[in-house]
Amino acid sequence: MAKIVCVLYPDPIDGFPPEYARDTIPVLNSYPGGQTLPTPSSLDFRPGDLVGCVSGELGLRKFLEERGHTLVVTSDKEGPDSIFDRELADADVVISQPFWPAYLTAERIARAPKLKLALTAGIGSDHVDLDAAIARDITVAEETYSNSISVAEHAVMQILALVRNYLPSHQWAAQGGWNIADCVSHAYDIEGMDVGVIAAGRIGQAVLRRLAPFDVRLHYTDKRRLSPELEQELGLTFHPDARSLARAVDVVSIHAPLHPETRNLFNEELIGSMRRGSYIVNTARAQIVDRDAVVAALESGQLAGYAGDVWYPQPPAADHPWRTMPYNGMTPHVSGTTLSAQARYAAGTREILEAWLDGKPIRDEYLIVDGGKLAGAGAVAYTASQDAGNS
Ligand code: NAD
Repeated sequence: MAKIVCVLYPDPIDGFPPEYARDTIPVLNSYPGGQTLPTPSSLDFRPGDLVGCVSGELGLRKFLEERGHTLVVTSDKEGPDSIFDRELADADVVISQPFWPAYLTAERIARAPKLKLALTAGIGSDHVDLDAAIARDITVAEETYSNSISVAEHAVMQILALVRNYLPSHQWAAQGGWNIADCVSHAYDIEGMDVGVIAAGRIGQAVLRRLAPFDVRLHYTDKRRLSPELEQELGLTFHPDARSLARAVDVVSIHAPLHPETRNLFNEELIGSMRRGSYIVNTARAQIVDRDAVVAALESGQLAGYAGDVWYPQPPAADHPWRTMPYNGMTPHVSGTTLSAQARYAAGTREILEAWLDGKPIRDEYLIVDGGKLAGAGAVAYTASQDAGNS
């Protein structure tokens, strides 16, 4: 029988379950491109329920306990005395998530001799030291596509919010003002702007598609060039690297995985090469940008705005400078964990567990590491090296 340790974000401060704003979520038929939605044998939750927090348990307890397995769910993940660290010692499976990452460092993996499966509830497994997982033959898997459109919607929202100066304008209204000149002194239309994505994978392509109707000029860079048909359909300008793209656009949206090639990519020099008053939205991973270079660029006016939902570490300290830097539209790491997204990644988590517990293959598109090497979606997105993962 297996022991599954699951680290999830804490319950709402007003208690669990919350009062839901809606009774249902839309039923989707497939993901863009035709990948099928998760196919667990059944579900023990109502799609649209808050299953992503501790009391929600990803809807897994009944299914696992009926089969005789042990499920431990906690949000206590920091330090050697945390519940996570203690339970890790004899865990067969760890489920964690990018929003509240239980960082599976090489040291922690060394202290988990039975660990065979590291499952990400969501997308982005850089909180797992992939090199250590490869060395130990631990399978790493995630629910590819489960929240890609959720993130794309968030990125487009934040681009518009920054360029149009939405959040400060809302503040003026909420605090009883009518300060139109103050609101619009920093507000523009995106129509006619150059907007580019760093990486045009599932999320990057969805952002490009959603921005096309805004009559912007679209740019992208990726290790893999898109088809000429798609470039033509969306009117895309391809750039061979981030350096070329950064200086050609007004808005950058970052959608690359965190790995050695992308870590610290947007440093002082690259940000300094952008047009004055550019905007950056980063819903990928915080360490793709230099924390302090972003703050300095906002203070000097080199950047007119920065938004996103990814921080390092997570949760960030109360005095993290991104909480208070000028013209920021930061949210906590929420874009990929809407109630809609949770329904899909919780169902996908169960699908993967059912396969693994029955000794059946996990879908190739869910795999990041398997058989001691990068596999499936992971072989496309990541590079393995000593620097990959764990942060
Ligand atoms: P994907 O695998 O579909 O696409 C990744 C793309 O990045 C690929 O096209 C790949 O070729 C490209 N790429 C990799 N290294 C590159 C490099 N050095 N330069 C240029 N391109 C490079 O992944 P996805 O589903 O689009 O997700 C992308 C990332 O978004 C994830 O790795 C994760 O870190 C992040 N994410 C964040 C959230 C959130 O809640 N904020 C949710 C899901 C994913």
